[in-house]
Amino acid sequence: TEQTLGRLAEESWNRFDDHDSVFYEGVWHRSHTLAERARRMCGGLAEAGIRPGDRVAVMMANSPEVPLIYQAVWAAGAVVTPVVFLVGPEELRHILLDSGARAIVTSPELADTVRAANVDIPIYVDTVELEQATGRGPVTRSPGDLAALMYTGGTTGRAKGVMLSHRGLWQVAKDAFELSRQEGLNRALIPVPLSHAYGLIVTVASMHATEPQQAVLMRWFDPKAFLALAAEHRVQYGSVVPTMIHLLLAEPLDEHPLPDLAFLTCGAAPLGREALAEFERRMPGTQILEGYGLTETSAVTTFNPPGRRRAGSVGLPLAGYSITIRDGDGEAMETGDVGEICVSGESLMLGYWGEHEPDPEGTALVGAELRTGDIGCVDDDGYLYIVDRKKDLIIRGGFNVFPRDVEDALNRHPDVVLSGVVGRRDPRLGEEVVAFVQLREGAEVTAEELIAWARERVGRVKYPREVRFVDSVPVTSVLKLDRKALRERLG
Ligand code: ATP
Repeated sequence: TEQTLGRLAEESWNRFDDHDSVFYEGVWHRSHTLAERARRMCGGLAEAGIRPGDRVAVMMANSPEVPLIYQAVWAAGAVVTPVVFLVGPEELRHILLDSGARAIVTSPELADTVRAANVDIPIYVDTVELEQATGRGPVTRSPGDLAALMYTGGTTGRAKGVMLSHRGLWQVAKDAFELSRQEGLNRALIPVPLSHAYGLIVTVASMHATEPQQAVLMRWFDPKAFLALAAEHRVQYGSVVPTMIHLLLAEPLDEHPLPDLAFLTCGAAPLGREALAEFERRMPGTQILEGYGLTETSAVTTFNPPGRRRAGSVGLPLAGYSITIRDGDGEAMETGDVGEICVSGESLMLGYWGEHEPDPEGTALVGAELRTGDIGCVDDDGYLYIVDRKKDLIIRGGFNVFPRDVEDALNRHPDVVLSGVVGRRDPRLGEEVVAFVQLREGAEVTAEELIAWARERVGRVKYPREVRFVDSVPVTSVLKLDRKALRERLG
C-alpha cells in the first residue's frame, strides 16, 4: 500500500540482515551501519529545529551519505531540495532563497560555494554533526505532502521548483523498480548524479527492494572507471544517460567483456537507435532499456520493460501515467501522428513552487495535464517515440530541422564520439545549422568530409553547413548535451 517516503525509508532500514551494501571509492559500507547513520541524521535534523514541511537543501557530489540524508529528511517529515553540485553561488542563492530552505547539507569541497551564496541559514558541512544526535525519531506525514522540491530549467532560464509529493515519487519508483526487476539481479552500478531527478528516483527505487541489494556508486562518470568497476564487482545492471553510452562506445569494449551485465536503463536525453544497436553488438548480453521522463513526472514517464522492449522507442507509460499527443491547437491526435507529448496521471508533480501562472517556456500543467515541450508519437501498442524538443527546433529557411536527426547521423560516423547541433542566427535563412563535433583520439576526418557524410544521410536542407571540432562537447551536470553552452560558443 501507498505510504510516505519517510515510512518507506524506515522500513528499508530494518528489512534485511547486515550485508555489504554500497561500494564507494574503494570501500564497502555495511547496510546496518548506513541505516543507523540515516536514523541519527533524522534525529539530528529534528534537534537542529527542522520541522515537518521545512525544506532542507542537499548539495553534495555522489557519496554514500546522499541517500542517507534524503531518507533522514523524509523520516523527519521535511522536504529535500537536491542541488546539483556544479551550480555556482549565484544559482545556489536563487534556489536557497526561492525554496526558503531552512538548512543546507554539503560536502567539504563545496563549502566555499555554499558560503559564497551568502544565505543566512545553517550550513552542515558533511553529515557528521547531524549524526551526533540520539534524539527524536521519525514524524508522520501523508502521501499527498511535499517530499521533494527539485529545481529544473537552469539551462533554459531561471531554475524553478518542481513540487513532488510522497505519493508521486513512491509510485513512480515502485513501478520503475517492479518493471525493471529481474530475479537474482541485485548488483547495480550507479554513475548518474543522485541530485538529479533520475538519480533521486534510482535512490527511492532501491528503497523498494525485496532482496538485499548491492550498489557500486560512482562519484562521477568516467568510461574507464565504469568498465573497471563493472568487471571487478560483476555488476548486473545499471543506470546511465546517452552521453555515457557514447563515451563507452569510444572505448575498446571487446577488451572489457561484462558477461554479468544484463541491462542498463537509459534516459534523460535522446539515444540514437544506432548507438543502441552498436552498444549491444559490442557488449553482447547487455540490453539497453530506454525510458523517458521529466523532473515534473518524477523522472520516469515511460519505460521499456525487459522482454517487451522496442528499440528506438522510449517505452510504455508507467501505471500512474497516460499520454496524449496534441497538435498546435491542443487537439488530441491520432495514433502515429507527431505532436506535443502531454502527460496526465496521479503521479504528476503538484505544481511549480510559488507559481500558479503558466510559465513562459510553455511547460505548464493544463488542468491535470503536463505539456512537456517534447515532440513525439505513439504506436498502435502504446509505445512512445521521441522526435525532439520543441525548443531545440531549428528553423532554417522555413524548414524544420530537428538537431537530434543531424546529431544521430554525425554520431554514426566511426570517427565521431559525440556531436551537438544548434542553430546560428542567419540574416538570410533565419537560422543556419552548425555542428560541434568531438572526434575519437587520432581521428583524421575533416570538416568537409563530415558535412558530406551528414548531407548524404539527412538530406540537402538539414545538413550542417559548418562543423566545428571541440575537445569535448559541453554537457550539463547530468551529462546532457548543453545546448546553451554551444549557442554561447557560436559568438
Ligand atoms: P533543465 O533543468 O535544464 O531544464 P531539462 O529541461 O532537460 O533540464 P529535465 O526534467 O531534467 O529538464 O529533463 C526532461 C527532458 O529530458 C524531457 O523533456 C526530454 O526533452 C528529455 N528526455 C528525457 N528522457 C529522454 C529520452 N529517453 N529521449 C529523449 N529525450 C529525453
